[in-house]
Amino acid sequence: MLRAFRSTLNSARYAFKAPESSVDFLVIGGGVSCSNDMLVPGEEISSRNSEVIHAGLYYPPNSNKMRLCIRGRELLYARCQAMNIPFRRTGKLIVATDKQRPYIEALHAKAQQISWPPSFIPTKLLSAAEVHEMEPNISPEITSALWSPETGIVSSHALMESLEQEIVERGGDLVYATRAVRVDPHKHGWVVQMVTDDAEHGDAILAKTLINAAGLSAPLIANSVVPEEKRIPLYYARGSDDALAGTAPYFRP
Ligand SMILES: Cc1cc2nc3c(=O)[nH]c(=O)nc-3n(C[C@H](O)[C@H](O)[C@H](O)COP(=O)(O)OP(=O)(O)OC[C@H]3O[C@@H](n4cnc5c(N)ncnc54)[C@H](O)[C@@H]3O)c2cc1C
Repeated sequence: MLRAFRSTLNSARYAFKAPESSVDFLVIGGGVSCSNDMLVPGEEISSRNSEVIHAGLYYPPNSNKMRLCIRGRELLYARCQAMNIPFRRTGKLIVATDKQRPYIEALHAKAQQISWPPSFIPTKLLSAAEVHEMEPNISPEITSALWSPETGIVSSHALMESLEQEIVERGGDLVYATRAVRVDPHKHGWVVQMVTDDAEHGDAILAKTLINAAGLSAPLIANSVVPEEKRIPLYYARGSDDALAGTAPYFRP
């Protein structure tokens, strides 16, 4: 059963403190979604993911998630090329047995219907012969596949390093090993209290614009500055990945 938490960052442990300095922009979070100026980074999901550049196939058609995924994919390939970040546009096969064929046909139909921007998720349905020619190690039970040529892979560490370098080059400040522990509204922006390492007390700073890019902790920060009835519930769910080591079971020499 999933339990929803409506927690906030603010607690009695860190009482409100008046700000001692101010910045125009403050970003909480040092993952791939971060922006620049003054940044409070850490290390979480952005350095522990599968490093896939997704085509945008699985989101509801024309939803914001789909649009952002397509736009993000274009920007990411352009950045990798411009900044020598290791990447490969490998393409992806979504394989299907006879029974699963309707699923990939529906996925293909959805990709064709996308109206923004027109046909930006190219996909092609492949026959059994085409799939096995492309990937001989695939099980004989696979009788068709959907080919997604825009899917790729990227070195997430090199990507994160390039973002870090760009922030510094553009004059932003990076603050390492530091947690935002309290956020309060202020007539000129937001007062953010931050604690570095295991310090007992934090420093408070006034951010005229605060960008909440704290990944899984983002709702805690948002919940600190909205009335209780508007708090966003957090649902944590576990996922599992499989890895194959050694020779593929259907390898044909
Ligand atoms: C197992 C797994 C595999 C995935 N594979 C892929 C994939 O192949 N392709 C893909 O596109 N996506 C993938 N994702 C999703 C993707 O990794 C995430 O959507 C993305 O990294 C989120 O980036 P982010 O910047 O929003 O969050 P994060 O990378 O989590 O960054 C948030 C940052 O905020 C910091 N932070 C949090 N709270 C505070 C605070 N109070 N004060 C200061 N800092 C704080 C954290 O330390 C962290 O550094 C995967 C996710 C998982 C879990």
